[in-house]
Amino acid sequence: MSILINIIIVIAAVVFMEVFAILFHKHFMHGRGWTWHQSHHVHTDGYFEKNDLYAVWFSVIAAALFISGSLWWSPLWYVALGFTIYGVLYAFVHDGLVHQRWPFNWTPKGGYLYRLVLAHRLHHHVTERDGAVSFGFLWAEKPDDLKAELKGRK
Ligand SMILES: [Zn+2]
Ligand SMILES: [Zn+2]
Repeated sequence: MSILINIIIVIAAVVFMEVFAILFHKHFMHGRGWTWHQSHHVHTDGYFEKNDLYAVWFSVIAAALFISGSLWWSPLWYVALGFTIYGVLYAFVHDGLVHQRWPFNWTPKGGYLYRLVLAHRLHHHVTERDGAVSFGFLWAEKPDDLKAELKGRK
């Protein structure tokens, strides 16, 4: 039974992180946090960008949760595991599939992964803080809807 509960905690933490990421990306990174996130919307030299500091911070939070979970309250350890799985999925989709920061070239040609790539490319159509669409990383609306939304904003 407790295994089942732990699995549910992990899945809930992954889902929670995507919802949180959408809101955080939309309202903070494209708001007060733009000073870091801007580096990801304009071209910068070198492999790393200031925006990567967000990933560093989230890793620190996950690490703190792992430690708290092992020391004090074990459910937190499973929350941390869910956050970490989300981080891996985010890195695979966002840094890998969309931005090709890995040492090989592979982009999906169809299916939901392709839709994710298209949706995030549309997010990058806007290089300013305001007016962007599609803030999710694992959740993507239909590209045609996003295109229409972008058109309507111009
Ligand atoms: Zn953005
Ligand atoms: Zn991006």
